[in-house]
Amino acid sequence: MSYCVNCGVELDGTAEFCPLCQTPVHNPRQPVDGDSPAPFPTERSEVVPVPMWELAVLVSAMLASVAVCCGLLNLFLRTNHIWSLYVIGAAAMLWVFIVPPLLWRKLPLPAATLLDAAAIGLYVLLIAWELDGLEWYLRLALPVTALLALILLVQVLLFQKRRPSILSTMAVVVASIAVFVVGLELLGDLYFHGEWVPSWSLVVLIVAGALEIPLLVVRRVPGLRQEARRRFHM
Ligand SMILES: [Zn+2]
Repeated sequence: MSYCVNCGVELDGTAEFCPLCQTPVHNPRQPVDGDSPAPFPTERSEVVPVPMWELAVLVSAMLASVAVCCGLLNLFLRTNHIWSLYVIGAAAMLWVFIVPPLLWRKLPLPAATLLDAAAIGLYVLLIAWELDGLEWYLRLALPVTALLALILLVQVLLFQKRRPSILSTMAVVVASIAVFVVGLELLGDLYFHGEWVPSWSLVVLIVAGALEIPLLVVRRVPGLRQEARRRFHM
């Protein structure tokens, strides 16, 4: 057994150089064993990454087969209801969620968010069309989807530059929920009653405000922020 004269590391019999400090190995009593295999790979190799397009093709094929199978089942079982449309639409929506970000790695997050929102909007349109409800789609479902998309887009724009602290995340999430709930009641009221009579969304708004004020105060005051970090292990 040889040891490196420079760094003292134990050397394998096949080593011509110390693997740590590259000092040549000269041990007259134990010549370098050139026949046995080295105990570790001598050439660097890398894990071959799964090509994204292969994954995209796989996902596309899976979703397409689900859609085709349901379409055929629907054709053969012949019901009055075109239920397979929902499955086919859901498969198409999932495809939009998964495949473009796989193929287009540099797809900006705001663009991906808008694309996903458009996919949801189209899926709900499909359901509305099948249920003969274009009116509720235009006056209720589409505005609600647009509101949700807008809130998500604001969150993405706020958070895409740098990782937010837990306090900022909580503040934005609470504010988003409040905006969404108030918007939902507003749109629902306008659709069902023709006028806005805020009721339950006000409760959510008050609770959100009560949560938001301490969050913002703690975020602003450095001493409180430190204390909160320490207490809640943030
Ligand atoms: Zn060495």
